[in-house]
Amino acid sequence: MFSKLPPSLMMSSIPCYSRARTTTATPTPSLSMGSSRFNWFRKGLIFCFKSLFSTPYKALTSTTSHSLGACRFLCNISSNTSIQIELVPCLEDNYAYLLYDDDTGTVGVVDPSEALPIKNALAKRNMNLTYILNTHHHYDHTGGNLELKEAFGAKVIGAGSDKKRIPGIDIKLYDGDRWMFAGHEVVVMATPGHTKGHISYYFPKSKVIFTGDTLFSLSCGKLFEGSPEQMLCSLGKIATLPGDTKIYCGHEYTESNAKFALSIDPENEQLREYAKLIKQLRRKNLPTVPTTLKREKLCNPFLRTSSTAIRNTLNIPETASDSEALGIIRQAKDRG
Ligand SMILES: [Zn+2]
Repeated sequence: MFSKLPPSLMMSSIPCYSRARTTTATPTPSLSMGSSRFNWFRKGLIFCFKSLFSTPYKALTSTTSHSLGACRFLCNISSNTSIQIELVPCLEDNYAYLLYDDDTGTVGVVDPSEALPIKNALAKRNMNLTYILNTHHHYDHTGGNLELKEAFGAKVIGAGSDKKRIPGIDIKLYDGDRWMFAGHEVVVMATPGHTKGHISYYFPKSKVIFTGDTLFSLSCGKLFEGSPEQMLCSLGKIATLPGDTKIYCGHEYTESNAKFALSIDPENEQLREYAKLIKQLRRKNLPTVPTTLKREKLCNPFLRTSSTAIRNTLNIPETASDSEALGIIRQAKDRG
């Protein structure tokens, strides 16, 4: 065992992460060099070791002993800048996301449903591709994996529990794992319900989460392989994150989601205001993503299963549990 995360990166405030697979305590090394010299030194180290740095901590724990000193030092450095995100529309209504880190030039893509738009976006910025991150196995989230992997030698990252269904998977991650994207900590959250192996990627320092088809703006994914209980639990995990967390989901479904949400929660003032904004954005063909967790908690019916107004509209008894309510709301949405 080799390192301890700095306190700012610890997830102790999020109870669902009790299964996180890390580490025993080691004191943080003192970094007392002059600041410009240290910045140069830091950037050089990050650049040289980016592939090592981007390995899951659990994999580093099995590194041979001569490299443990480097691991111990490197894992206590984190990027000061937020991750850069570019939205890339794909297919009819999918979004893939380019992620890049200015310090190291490391580039990732989340859920490339097709290769061409990603290649075009990379070419425009003269970028290479280092990683492909998948939230789940559906073709409209993984369809570009193999072509991009072959073109750029990128590593494919996905749920270990779904390794047989993620094309080209190289790095398998599990609930609670902490992986490093060029100095940016990524917390892996199992969020089943839409599919069994669905995961979400949370970047605590940048306060962003990629939720795939688990949490949409004003809705959640269809329950293809999971139960209402599982979806409720997955949404509940996401709901524990800070309110200003930006949510990047897999589809531009927000306008139709708003219609349904308004139909069952018509007096919700925040929802009505948000629906107006959505209309304005979509009229200009602008994305509604990212949304924020704070807004979703106020407006998204699947995060408001205990709302009396919603329950009254759908005749959900007061005695029904939140998961029963979620199931009924989901059925009503599927019918609409
Ligand atoms: Zn899906």
